[in-house]
Order: sequence, then C-alpha cells, then structure tokens
Amino acid sequence: MAGDTMRRMVPYAVWGWDPTGSPPTADELRQLRPTVEQSLGFSLGEPRFGQLGELPPPRVRLAAALEPLGSDDPADRARHAIGRSYLDLLRGLNGAVEPVPDLVVRPTTPAEVEQVLAWAGDAGAGVVPFGGGSSVVGGVGPVPAAAERPVISLDLQRLSGVLEVDRTSRAARIAAGTLGPAVDAALRPDGLSLRFFPQSYEQSTVGGWLATRAAGHYATKLQHIDDLVESITACTPVGWWESRRLPGSGAGPSPDRMLLGSEGSLGVITEAWLRVQDRPRHRATASLVAGSFPSGADAVRLLLQSGLAPATCRLIDGVEATTSGAPGVAAGEALLVLGAESASHPVEDELEAAVAVVEEAGLRRLPPTSSAGDAWRNAFKAAPLLRERLALLGVIVETFETAVPWAHFPALHREVTAAVENALHEICGGGRVTCRLTHAYPDGCAPYFTVLAPGRPGSEAGQWRDIKSAASDAVLGAGGTITHHHAVGRDHAPWYGQQRPPVFAAALAGARHAVDPTGLMNPGLWDTDSDMHYR
Ligand SMILES: Cc1cc2nc3c(=O)[nH]c(=O)nc-3n(C[C@H](O)[C@H](O)[C@H](O)COP(=O)(O)OP(=O)(O)OC[C@H]3O[C@@H](n4cnc5c(N)ncnc54)[C@H](O)[C@@H]3O)c2cc1C
Repeated sequence: MAGDTMRRMVPYAVWGWDPTGSPPTADELRQLRPTVEQSLGFSLGEPRFGQLGELPPPRVRLAAALEPLGSDDPADRARHAIGRSYLDLLRGLNGAVEPVPDLVVRPTTPAEVEQVLAWAGDAGAGVVPFGGGSSVVGGVGPVPAAAERPVISLDLQRLSGVLEVDRTSRAARIAAGTLGPAVDAALRPDGLSLRFFPQSYEQSTVGGWLATRAAGHYATKLQHIDDLVESITACTPVGWWESRRLPGSGAGPSPDRMLLGSEGSLGVITEAWLRVQDRPRHRATASLVAGSFPSGADAVRLLLQSGLAPATCRLIDGVEATTSGAPGVAAGEALLVLGAESASHPVEDELEAAVAVVEEAGLRRLPPTSSAGDAWRNAFKAAPLLRERLALLGVIVETFETAVPWAHFPALHREVTAAVENALHEICGGGRVTCRLTHAYPDGCAPYFTVLAPGRPGSEAGQWRDIKSAASDAVLGAGGTITHHHAVGRDHAPWYGQQRPPVFAAALAGARHAVDPTGLMNPGLWDTDSDMHYR
C-alpha cells in the first residue's frame, strides 16, 4: 500500500481487535482470498481500507479539577464510538464513526467516578460507561436520538486490579475495569481462578461482564457471570448502590440482580465481590460425532438430564466443524467436544460416564489421537482476528445467539435457519448460516448461529441489518430469547421491547428514573425507536 494511503487509513486501534496489534496488509489479504473463496464458495473483491474524516469538535469541557482525566484525541473518541459488532467493524473500517463521544474520560478512583457523574449532571452531558468496548450489540456508542446533548465515554480501565482476596470464603473484590487476563494473573499466585472465559476474555472487563450478563465458555453449571456474584458496588447519579456480601439471600428482589444486565443504564459499576475457585489441575477431553445436528442436540439433552455436567460441552454442526479444520466430520454430521476438569480429583471417570450417555444416544467417539477438538478450539480463539480479515475482503460475517427450552429447540433451529437462508438468498444471492450449541441446561440450550455471505461493496451494513431483522423475528417467533449472553444494547432494543412484559418495562423505567432522574446514563439505550437501523 502506498505510504499516503497508510497515513490516512483509520488507525487499527479504532477498529482492530488487538489494540496493540497492526492491521493485515493488502498483500496478506490477497494471499488469504483464494482459500476463503474456496471454503465459502463465493468470490471476493479487493481489500478496502477507509479513512478517518474530521470529527466535530467537543461540545463540552470538563471542570478544571477533572481535566487531567479527559481526552479529545480524535482516534480515542472514534474508538469509543464503536464496539465490536460487524456493523461497528464496518463503521470503523470506513471511518464512518459518528456520532462520537465529545470526550473520553478515564477516572482512576471510585471517588473520581462520583465527581464525573456530578459534573455530568451539572453540564447536562450523557455518560456511556465503557469497559473493554467489546460490545457486539451497539452498547457503547452515543446514539443520534440523544444528539442534542453532549455525551462522554467513561472509560473504566484505570479502575483495575484484584483489590482483596478472601481465601476462606473463596471470593475476591475486583475493580470493574479489570480485563480478563489481569484478573487471572492476580489470582494465580493464590492458586485461584475466576474460571470465567468469554471468547472476548482478553478485551473485556469485569464491569462489562456484569453489565451485560456475559457468559463464559464453560457450557454447564457456572455459565453466566450472574452465578459468580456475591455483591456489586455502583455509583448512580443519586448516590452509591452497594449490596451486602452474601452467599445467598432471600431478602426481597436482589439489588445485584437488578444491576446485572443494566448495561450502564442505572449507574457505573465500580467493583464487585466475585466467587473464585481453586485452579483446575485435572482435565480430560473427548470428541464424538453425531449423525446430524438435531440428533447431537438430543444427546446433549440426555447428557444434561442425566445429572452430568461436563465443563465443556459444545455441539458444532458439520459445516462449521469442517470450516474450523476439524477432521472426520461430514457436512450433515455434528461434532461434540466434551471436557471435564477439577481442582481436587481425577476426572477420567466423570468424562467416561458422559461419553457413555452420548454413545448410548448414537454418537460415535473419535480416536483420542483425533485433532478435531483442538482444531475447533484453535479456530474459536483465532475467530476475532479472522473475522476482521474476512470483513476487509468484503464478507458479511456476524453471529447471533439465543436460548430456548429443549421442547422448542428443533423447531427453532429449523425455522431460524430457514429464515436466514431465505434472507441470504434474497439479499446476498448466497452465503451460509451454521449453528453450534454454546451452553446447555437440563431444560434447554443456547444455539449460536454464524452467518457468512458475500457483501455488496458499500451496501454491507444495510444487507446485514435486513438479515439480522429476519433472524431476530424468527428467533422470537420460535419462542427464543433475543439474546442468551450478548446483551440488548441498541441493536436488540426492538425485539427486547417485544419480549419483555409491558408492566416490567414500566417498572424498569421507574427504577431508571429513580436513580437517574435527568437521564444521564447511557442515553437512548433500549429505546425501541432508536434501534440498529440508525447504524
Ligand atoms: C469476538 C467476541 C467474542 C465475544 N464472546 C463473548 C462470550 O463468549 N460471552 C459473552 O457473554 N459475550 C461475548 N462477547 C460480547 C462482549 O465481549 C461482552 O458483552 C462483554 O461482557 C462486554 O464487556 P466489555 O468490558 O467489553 O464491555 P463494553 O463493551 O465496554 O460495554 C458493554 C455494555 O456494558 C456497559 N458497561 C461496561 N462497563 C460498565 C461498568 N463498569 N458499569 C456499568 N456499565 C458498564 C456499557 O455501557 C455497555 O452498555 C464477545 C464479543 C466479541 C467481539
């Protein structure tokens, strides 16, 4: 690429997955293109890079005492205008990042969070909390609907660290802006682990996990961050919200539950006491093949209903398994990856018991030398970086997820797949949708769909919005939730509006008004009329 183009390109730190990394070069992408074309079955265009235009000047200034915490650097503001959904990736790549926050503000203590909220109240500025910025649902950028007021992005990464460990109760007090690897590194010397690993682990924070009700990659038992919470502390515009540390409590509606999933709409989570565990020392894994995805799902249901709950239990359809490089799985089949682990005892017997249940249900075990499980795990880790390369080559590449009781799963899988395939045919003239089960419960499962389709240069955002609308309508129509763990954000707001009971919506609006009477916090979030169609 010519030096001049390089200079004008949107900085990688704005749209790229790894803020310390660098973008793929055009030559690298050209070399990748034939492999992708062969794997996906459609042809791709030339790699494209956009440029970052001039941003409107900030409309607000911090109070003098807070000024050292603020930044009006254009690339910083641009980064905080977007999350990490496909639509955000396109906006970043194209340099079309507006609306942008007027300022990025980085408090270093809870007291500074309180001071910034007080200043924002006086200045009439909206406040959007920002953890790792890995939202895939339009959770972190300002919305045009709130454009009449200035908005700051409150970046919490300087509130970082494991602040206290209670070894006796096995719990840790962790600052909200701590990124996944820093949590693990701080707990490791005590032989402890949070054992919470979302795929976005490296680039997401404890506060973000709590605010979005994130789920880790363990498929059973302690799946959601909700399951790990002892207490949460948050700063609201009207004061502090701090719950008592308890292993369980029946004292009325839970203050923690109310903050979980609040997505910055009730206040800023500053820290939490979370349950931690001894680091696992014993592990065992097995890979099996099912004759079809539905029959594999049935085996997973029988496994969970038998009372067994292997930590890893991922069912991946044959096309997705093959694309990941997993050998020994044909297109109509499905791969089941099982894994057990423990800090205290060998787990081979537990794993064999799980294998016996799914074999009884008709699954075929792959030899222990098979690399299928590893291939899929590696593809899972590499996915964020591959995704941006595919987008640069013009591929529409996005995922969506849901959860549904087992009784409705076969119909949901059929209907959602058909709705997306129809949409792909009409909107893109081709493409494909694949599915895996990321989480499993005795009464249901969480299907996770991946869409790959040829984009029309310049129209990809509109194409994806139409595909996503068709998918979301089908998910709700089949009895699923609009999200199992990605959260609501602005993108899911219309469907969240349909899903939640109207009386509950009114109760939530009342709660928001009570803690944030002037509507500072994450303005426009969940407004069903400011949906993803603006993006
Ligand atoms: C490649 C990839 C893989 C992913 N894998 C998973 C996965 O396995 N499981 C999963 O659950 N999600 C996953 N996600 C989605 C995303 O990582 C999660 O939603 C994550 O919890 C967001 O954390 P964050 O710190 O990046 O929050 P952000 O994206 O910064 O913010 C998300 C929302 O929370 C609010 N918020 C953030 N911090 C605070 C705070 N301290 N107080 C109040 N509100 C706050 C923000 O205002 C926003 O509304 C993935 C995303 C990507 C891009």
